Amino acid sequence: MSRVIVFVFDGLQKELVTEELMPNLKEFTSKGVRFLSHQPVFPTVTRVNSATMVTGCFPATHGLMGNTAIVSEFSKTEPMNTYLKDHFVELIDKGGDPLFVPTLAQSMATLNLQYIAIGIGSTGQSFVHHPYLSDEKYGSTIHPEYSIPERLNDEIISKFGPWPEASRPNTSRIERMIDICIDYALVEQQADVTFLWCSEPDGSQHGTPLGSDTVFESVKAADKGFGRLLSWIEDNDLQDEFDIIVTCDHGHSSAEKIIPINEMLLEANFAPPGMPGGVTVADNGGALLFYIKGKDFETGQSLIQWLFSQYWAGPLLVADYLQEIPGVLPTSLIGLDGVRGPDIALSFAWNENANLNGVKGFSYVASGREGCGQHGSMNPTELRTFTVANGPDFLKDVSISSVSGHPDIAPTIMHLLGHSPPSYMEGEVLYEALSGQKEPKSGRIENISYSSQNEIVSDQYSQQLIISPRENGGYIVSAEYSH
Ligand SMILES: [Zn+2]
Repeated sequence: MSRVIVFVFDGLQKELVTEELMPNLKEFTSKGVRFLSHQPVFPTVTRVNSATMVTGCFPATHGLMGNTAIVSEFSKTEPMNTYLKDHFVELIDKGGDPLFVPTLAQSMATLNLQYIAIGIGSTGQSFVHHPYLSDEKYGSTIHPEYSIPERLNDEIISKFGPWPEASRPNTSRIERMIDICIDYALVEQQADVTFLWCSEPDGSQHGTPLGSDTVFESVKAADKGFGRLLSWIEDNDLQDEFDIIVTCDHGHSSAEKIIPINEMLLEANFAPPGMPGGVTVADNGGALLFYIKGKDFETGQSLIQWLFSQYWAGPLLVADYLQEIPGVLPTSLIGLDGVRGPDIALSFAWNENANLNGVKGFSYVASGREGCGQHGSMNPTELRTFTVANGPDFLKDVSISSVSGHPDIAPTIMHLLGHSPPSYMEGEVLYEALSGQKEPKSGRIENISYSSQNEIVSDQYSQQLIISPRENGGYIVSAEYSH
C-alpha cells in the first residue's frame, strides 16, 4: 500500500507545461502516465469538479451542481455562491447537506486512514473535502483563513508563522502550502492522502489575459513548489512510498463578452425569481443554470426557444420534464440531473480566435473580465484537464488515450490505498494506468454521439455531444452547436 499525494494546479492549460515554464512538471510528465483524455464534469468550474474529485460521483449524485447554484435548503430564489465556506456553514445550519454522499476523507476514516487537504484557493473549495465540521476523526483541512478542525489553525500558525498575504501570482502562499505539506502532513502526521489545491494559474488567468507574463510567473511559482515537494521525496529516498496524481479541475478560455443575462430575461418578459413561472439564473462564468418556479412547462418552452435564438448560446441540456422540446438534450447524459439539478443548463458559445498573446479560445460569459481568462463552458479549451500520475503503482512513460474523468480519482485513490472503492462511488479505478495489476482492462462502452435540432425563427439550432457513457452520467468528449 502506498501513500498518495494529489496536486491540483487550478485551471492549468497543457500549453503551459513547457521546459521553460514548468521544468519539474515537464520532467514528471515524461516519466509517468499521461492521461490524454481525462475530462472534467460540466459546468467546467472549480467547486463542481472539486466535489466530483473528492466523492468519486457525478454532480447529480453529490449534489454540488455549480460554483453558484440553487440549493433549496439555502434559498429557493437566490443562488448559493459556493466560493464561501460561510455559505456552506449557513446551509448546514438550515438543515441542508453540502454533499449527498460521503467524501473520500470520510470513507478513509472508517478504515483509520488519514486525509489532509491543504488549499490556497477559495474557502469554499477547501471546505468540500471535509464538510462535516464537528467530527475530527476525518482528518483535516488547512486553508489560510481557517482549518478543520478549528483548533488546528492556531497550531499551524504557531508552527509556520502567520500566512503570507494573497498575491498575484500567489507565490508566497504556494511556498507556505508546500512547507505545511512536507513538515506537517507528510512528516508529522504521516497522512495517507495529502490533497493539495494550488490556486495558480487560475487566479492569475482570471485577472490578466491568458499568456500574460503574470500567468507565466504564476506557473513558474507553482512548478517551483511542486519541484520542491518532488526533491524532498527524492532526497529522502521515498520514491517507492508515494503515488502522485497531478491534475487540474478545468481549462480556460478568454472572456469574449459579458452577457447581462438577468437584465435580458426581464426585457424578454420572463417573470423574476419567486413569481409564478419566475426564472432564476445561476452564473457559472461560461455556463448558466436556469431554475423555473413550479417547473412550469410553458415557461421552459419559451425560455428554450428564446435561448436558441441568442447568438451567444451554445449546447443546451434540460431536466426530464422538458425533454420533449425539439433541440434539447437531457442533463442526465452528463450527470447534471437529480434533485438539485437545474431545469436548463446552457454552455455559452465559443470560438477559436486568438487573444493578444496568441492564446486561442474565447467564450461568452455571464461574469468575469472581458479579455481575461474565464471558464465554465464546453469550449474544448475548457473541457479538458492536464492529468499525469507517477509512482510505484503506476506504469512508466506511457500515454493513455481512453477516456477517464474526475469521478475516477477517488476510487483510484482507494485502490492505491489497498481498499475496494465504496459502492457509492460512480467513477472507476484507472486500472489501465496501473502496473502489475491483474484486473482486466475495463470494457468501457465506446463513445456515443447525441444530436438534436430545432427550427427557430428563420433559422435552425442544432447541437451534437459526443459522450463516453458511465453509470449515472457520462464524460463529454466533445461538443458542437450551430445556429
Ligand atoms: Zn478552478
